[in-house]
Amino acid sequence: MPTTTDPAAGALVDAFGRVAADLRVSVTDRCNLRCTYCMPAEGLDWLPKPELLTFEELTRVIAIAVGLGIRSVRLTGGEPLLRRGLPELVAQIAALEPRPRIAMTTNGLGLDRLAQPLKDAGLDRVNVSLDTIDREAFTRLTRRDRLDDVVKGLQAAADAGLLPVKVNAVAMRGVNDESVADLLQWCLDHGYELRFIEQMPLDADHRWDRSTMVTQAEILDRLGERFALTPLGAEARGSAPAETWLVDGGPAVVGVIASVSQPFCGACDRMRLTADGQLRSCLFARSEHDLRTPLRSGASDAELAEQMVRLMAAKKAGHGIDDPSFLQPARPMSAIGG
Ligand code: SAM
Ligand code: SF4
Repeated sequence: MPTTTDPAAGALVDAFGRVAADLRVSVTDRCNLRCTYCMPAEGLDWLPKPELLTFEELTRVIAIAVGLGIRSVRLTGGEPLLRRGLPELVAQIAALEPRPRIAMTTNGLGLDRLAQPLKDAGLDRVNVSLDTIDREAFTRLTRRDRLDDVVKGLQAAADAGLLPVKVNAVAMRGVNDESVADLLQWCLDHGYELRFIEQMPLDADHRWDRSTMVTQAEILDRLGERFALTPLGAEARGSAPAETWLVDGGPAVVGVIASVSQPFCGACDRMRLTADGQLRSCLFARSEHDLRTPLRSGASDAELAEQMVRLMAAKKAGHGIDDPSFLQPARPMSAIGG
């Protein structure tokens, strides 16, 4: 049986031998929060509705990708729960053969109502973004006073059995960097698996600054003041972006995705599809491949598959954030799909 690290498993192989096995699908660019590291306070235009791929179009692209070796699909956005009828899309993906694993990254708003219907439709897991449990800091970070709704959403995810429930957090200097240990304690108390993500240069305001970014080393120092952390090492990590540590001897773990200070591009197995049908081989790619036009003008599955294979083959070695010539992608994280 071929594995996803074996090029024979699929045709989505790049020039460096990396094989795409994970497809991130953005289902909308809209959002009901305005996290400072992602969106501007106001003034971002939404994609016109006719440009969004329909569920049928999304499922067709995902089915072709599954035929090429994609084994897990993650729904994201913008805020994926804002896309009306999302459980229907999940059910369509869950009916594919072979059935991919289906996960979702969400800010948790509305998950209290949707967790069970999504689970029933076939969703396997969720990551809920929550940067702090301090109401004032949450409101500063997201520019909305919605902490209670996120907490409700997390509880509903656990009740629905979307396990393990993971929490994604970005540490921002002067806002929540000093309270990362409080967030870990809260996640441990509730049985959620916490992972920090280093802030990446993907904010709409272009305010990211390498010199003030909170690094993995700093996060670990702060956590280490309160918890004993034991590294789980490369084997536990596989191609996952998060490095993980046992907390106080386990079984609980905490992860850090050090996308900037310790890039994991060499093990990247991801491809991305934006809500308007643009295929990307990297979060930081400066160019996208338009799949929507061929999709809507009669291209066959084989032709679309060939375009995916060609895009993946041209994937760059790394994101190049530290290169002097690095330029942030034209779209912010919310429009690419995190
Ligand atoms: N709205 C959903 C959410 O917040 O979970 C899904 C989309 S969001 C773009 C996906 C993930 O990207 C979230 O966990 C968020 O914290 C993370 N993210 C957004 N902007 C980021 C940035 N500049 N650097 C690192 N992570 C970022
Ligand atoms: Fe919205 Fe998610 Fe971006 Fe926050 S990180 S603004 S919740 S898309």
